[in-house]
Amino acid sequence: MTELTGARLRARGSLGDLLRVGPTLDLMDIDPGSTPGLPKKKDPKGWAREQLTGIGAELARHQEMLYANAKATGDRRRLLLVLQAMDCGGKDGTIKKVAGAMNPLGLHIVGFGPPTDEERAHDFLWRIRRALPEAGQVGVFNRSHYEDVLVARVDSLVPERTWRSRYWQINGFERELVNGGFVIVKVMLHISYQEQRERLLERLTDPTKHWKYNPADVDARARWTDYQAAYNDALSKCSTEYAPWHVVPADRKWYRDWAVANIVREALVGMDLSYPKADFDIAAERRRLKTDRATAGARGERQVNGE
Ligand code: AMP
Ligand code: MG
Repeated sequence: MTELTGARLRARGSLGDLLRVGPTLDLMDIDPGSTPGLPKKKDPKGWAREQLTGIGAELARHQEMLYANAKATGDRRRLLLVLQAMDCGGKDGTIKKVAGAMNPLGLHIVGFGPPTDEERAHDFLWRIRRALPEAGQVGVFNRSHYEDVLVARVDSLVPERTWRSRYWQINGFERELVNGGFVIVKVMLHISYQEQRERLLERLTDPTKHWKYNPADVDARARWTDYQAAYNDALSKCSTEYAPWHVVPADRKWYRDWAVANIVREALVGMDLSYPKADFDIAAERRRLKTDRATAGARGERQVNGE
């Protein structure tokens, strides 16, 4: 197992670049317990948790600028964060920590389970299109159209030629989104087989977590190797220059949160956002407010025949 180093991060510039998936991928080469790009610290966990607070404030500020531009200038841009992972990979926890730092007003969070009968009657991207964030929003997908090349492949829900044709369909779909103003950030939270066992056992031990336990997760776990192969293909075939995939080692929750928050921050910074300029005369508006004469009703005075 390789540990990606801070030196490589400095050479490549950003955490997103460091964790980005290239044309080939073998998840076996990435240690789920590693902390690539994390500066050397005495107390890495404490440091990462503290940093997260600052990054969260930055996320909130950029999100507000994105939202403000859509409202004030009709800017069509938006950001979509796609999260994928094996069960217990930490998608929910990441959403709580990373999206939780932003204003709910500008967030659009959607989880995808097995398709309903209605969804199944359409092509696999139909329900995804309906769930996309609007201009100015930050969208978060908890699972996504990638399930249609992951579980659909591993559980043979469709013939091989069908799921194989979906890689290029997905790339075309994401190209279309990016052309329409989307910035797409895709993150796979990579946990180990051992860590998944620990987390599943924890869910059994803690009665407040029983609702999260699904016996079917153990069946998916039994197909771990098939899933890893499906992930290798999906991530490498669909990691494009316009919508790259990232693998975030996720056995350590504090690293996972820090890394995802950083990747999202970098994407938002790359959008080069600023607060929209006023399209009215500020001085004139100020004068109007200082000298205005309200109607009797607005002054709270009783009107004789008024409402
Ligand atoms: P959870 O994220 O724990 O709520 O589980 C959602 C379940 O829905 C997982 O078992 C996924 O594999 C399954 N799922 C999501 N999308 C699809 C899909 N397109 N086809 C089949 N199963 C899906
Ligand atoms: Mg689950």
